[in-house]
Amino acid sequence: MSSTAEGNLELAATQLQRFRDAPLPHFIDGRHAVGRSGKTFDNVTPVDNSLIGQVSAGNAEDIDAACRSSAEAFAHWQSIPGKERKKILHKVADAIEANAHEIAVVESFDSGQAYRFMSKAAIRGAANFRFFADMAPSARDGQSLPAEQHLNYSVRQPIGPVGVITPWNTPFMLSTWKIAPALAAGCTVVHKPAEWSPYSAMMLAEIASEAGLPAGVLNCVQGLGEDAGKALTEHPAIKAVAFVGESSTGSHIMRQGAATLKRVHFELGGKNPVIVFDDADLERALDAVVFMIYSLNGERCTSSSRLLVQETIQDEFIGRLVERIGKLKVGHPLDPATEIGPLIHQRHFEKVCSYFEMAPQDGARIAAGGKPAPLDGKGNFVEPTLFVDADNSMRIAQQEIFGPVLTAIPFSDEADALRIANDIEYGLAGYVWTNDIGRGHRLAAGIDAGMIWVNSENNRHLPAPFGGMKASGIGRDGGDYSFEFYMETKNVCIAMGTHPVPKLGA
Ligand code: NAD
Repeated sequence: MSSTAEGNLELAATQLQRFRDAPLPHFIDGRHAVGRSGKTFDNVTPVDNSLIGQVSAGNAEDIDAACRSSAEAFAHWQSIPGKERKKILHKVADAIEANAHEIAVVESFDSGQAYRFMSKAAIRGAANFRFFADMAPSARDGQSLPAEQHLNYSVRQPIGPVGVITPWNTPFMLSTWKIAPALAAGCTVVHKPAEWSPYSAMMLAEIASEAGLPAGVLNCVQGLGEDAGKALTEHPAIKAVAFVGESSTGSHIMRQGAATLKRVHFELGGKNPVIVFDDADLERALDAVVFMIYSLNGERCTSSSRLLVQETIQDEFIGRLVERIGKLKVGHPLDPATEIGPLIHQRHFEKVCSYFEMAPQDGARIAAGGKPAPLDGKGNFVEPTLFVDADNSMRIAQQEIFGPVLTAIPFSDEADALRIANDIEYGLAGYVWTNDIGRGHRLAAGIDAGMIWVNSENNRHLPAPFGGMKASGIGRDGGDYSFEFYMETKNVCIAMGTHPVPKLGA
């Protein structure tokens, strides 16, 4: 296995050659399917914005074919015993592991995320499959709820074919986080990946099929959100939509799915606070602050993009932070030494750069970065950036920038920190650094967010609930929480004797 920049580049070129030669097709009913409209769109690499290839622009007809295939496959897939589904999903996990290097280089070249993180993300994709594979045999289990003369028991059954719509940041890993529990529950899936990062979704569909997933159980339709995505959310065969993306897109999907009463699960945006108190282990806090905004190019829903730092340590902490930022390695995403790669797309690059002008306009100061950083004069690279002298009302504090850009805001005491943390439309995650255990618990209780980490970065445990409050989402993933979404709960009530049945008309 190669782990040099040159080796990774060569492998990416080999892997992507077939996508250069012909438009990337859909994967429907166990085979590649050319888009019915014949329309395609360009896909470029953020490394230099050169064309990688054409992608089939899926339309309502393609979606209909995929949904019909999923509906047909559902009858068979849901009836397979859980322990058989477990075996097949473990084979998918094995195959992902065997192809992890290939997935990582393609994902990295396509999305601009650094190889060092994508290699781990591909492996995490396999772990997602393994984790939910092991849960498949118990997915249907319910509760026994005895009453006086009756026994109530509940069972679960898969809801039906589901739509999975994913974004472009860590697309492979995020897709498996949705698709694996759906398949383990007995649902079939139509996946619509993001148009800016289409390749790894095709790789997943192919790998799963080769590993033994029956035809139609996982279909993949490429295309734009307003066409293929919209059609998927409106299709009557689709019983639920699991969506990861922007909050405003979530609102659209809710409207689009209203006519067919879709169940929805939303993982949306965030503007997450990391609160650093003066009694914290500042070296560990510094590591976590740097990691949680500058890893994954800052294109991460759980990034700690607002640093709330106690006034008493502000100068020292910001000084050390600036020093660390200056040493971050921006570079080619396939270079294993690179820590920050190019931003996904020129449009997103322009959005992130617009905050470099906005920050001083709003009265903040740029303490680090604040400029594009092209590689050999090309690509969507930006300098890792820190805004200071900010207050929480500024646009740089309220809006999700989704780049390697951190806004530092001072606070005076615990009450002030909590007020600032909650003064935001989002509620995905919160991070607290303090050595006062009571304060850690108080803030964990007080911050309105779905996930709180105290003295830790984004450390994940797959059975734990993942998701957001407020504009950051609806519903939770992880362990049994995922099954609650992908399954219907049915109650069965059985009389155990001859209780009096009301007699009418007797
Ligand atoms: P996006 O909302 O623009 O697109 C996400 C997906 O939705 C894409 O596949 C897109 O084609 C599709 N889409 C767009 N319009 C649609 C419509 N009308 N109907 C159906 N589908 C439609 O998001 P993005 O820019 O790709 O991703 C970045 C966003 O994702 C950020 O806001 C980030 O915070 C969020 N995100 C959240 C989580 C989480 O767990 N909360 C995780 C990762 C990313």
